[in-house]
Amino acid sequence: MMTKITFDHCLELDAADPLAEYRSAFLLPEGLIYLDGNSLGALPAATPGVVADVVQRQWGADLIRSWTSNDWINAPLRVGAKIAGLIGAGPDEVIVGDSTSANLYKLIVAALEARPDRTIVLSEEGNFPTDLYMIHGAIATVGRGCRLETRPRETLADAITQEVALVLLTQTHYKTADKLDMAAMTARAHEAGALILWDLSHSAGAVEVDLNGAGADLAVGCGYKYLNGGPGAPAFLFVAKRHHGRLRSPLSGWMGHSSPFDFVDDYRPAEGIRRFLCGTPPILGIAALEVGVDLIARAGMARLAEKSRHLCSLMIDLVEQECDFAGLQLVTPREASRRGSHVSFRHPEGYAIVQALIEEGVIGDFRAPDILRFGFTPLYVGFADVWEAVQRLKTIMADRRWDRDDYRVRAAVT
Ligand SMILES: *Cc1c(COP(=O)(O)O)cnc(C)c1O
Repeated sequence: MMTKITFDHCLELDAADPLAEYRSAFLLPEGLIYLDGNSLGALPAATPGVVADVVQRQWGADLIRSWTSNDWINAPLRVGAKIAGLIGAGPDEVIVGDSTSANLYKLIVAALEARPDRTIVLSEEGNFPTDLYMIHGAIATVGRGCRLETRPRETLADAITQEVALVLLTQTHYKTADKLDMAAMTARAHEAGALILWDLSHSAGAVEVDLNGAGADLAVGCGYKYLNGGPGAPAFLFVAKRHHGRLRSPLSGWMGHSSPFDFVDDYRPAEGIRRFLCGTPPILGIAALEVGVDLIARAGMARLAEKSRHLCSLMIDLVEQECDFAGLQLVTPREASRRGSHVSFRHPEGYAIVQALIEEGVIGDFRAPDILRFGFTPLYVGFADVWEAVQRLKTIMADRRWDRDDYRVRAAVT
């Protein structure tokens, strides 16, 4: 039998935690346990000041000169290079801008045009909806009989045939946290002559990613989840350097032009990753994102990932130990190397339970139809927080506090 986990044990883990000091680098309400950084990362304490400076000094006083004097023009590349360091990419292979959805569109169309003799985009059944929706939009743009095929996770590898132009996979599943083996799937795609596009929305800043180690072609990811860039933060995209000369963005805006300030009529894409920019970069959003990315880079991905594995394991073990009566079915892999940084359970009353938990000061989220999801962000979640969250969950389940009609009314955003 496993030895019983105690609150004191959790306190000891916090006392020995080399990342504990980062908790004070975030502004979080007192007493709140925030387990939703996988959906919207918390606010770094430095962000309000940095954004205020960009607004008041750079925009207010320096005005249009800031494109040069404050290097606004290179912000997408500068912050892209910092994100590159977190995902195993070269500093000139990542650029920041647009949303994850828009970046998916650019790269799906670019990939289909680079494989003109192939028609299939292969993805996962139950992938995050925008990924599938953007494939629909992209194949409608490209035409020539292109189509989407989806398969369950277990049979994806076998479905990569010679007809597949692009394999689009979300590495860490947004519901279960199940993590695909990037190197193995990439090798499999390449064997069949297909390109592969990784959605890192639930991986970047959460787990160790090695795009170039795996030989990946393309990737996208979110700025507002584990990277703590704030609501609607600009996303990022990665294109392996070997593809820079060949792949072209269908959103051929002037910021991706080789010389936007020549104001010529003909479109000529920039040489490097810059060709995947479209319009004028969102400077305020990038400034906030940079603060979040800097914090992750300073803490170090290896240390972060190690603590994440530990926090998630503790959550799984504690729910098992304290809430075995509650009918919560674990859907996240137990094996730490096979999962991202969130832990999910299935329960038919999942939505109401999550509402009751929020009322008790533990913010997780719900994913239809029946998933309770808890994100573990090592910079601002500690081991005693996990203990406390599980105690509150236990009380809610034991007292059936979730069993209220108003907790069953779905809000517009879950
Ligand atoms: C969160 C998430 C997105 C979000 O896309 P947006 O364009 O930022 O809304 C895309 N893909 C996955 C896998 C996600 O988890």
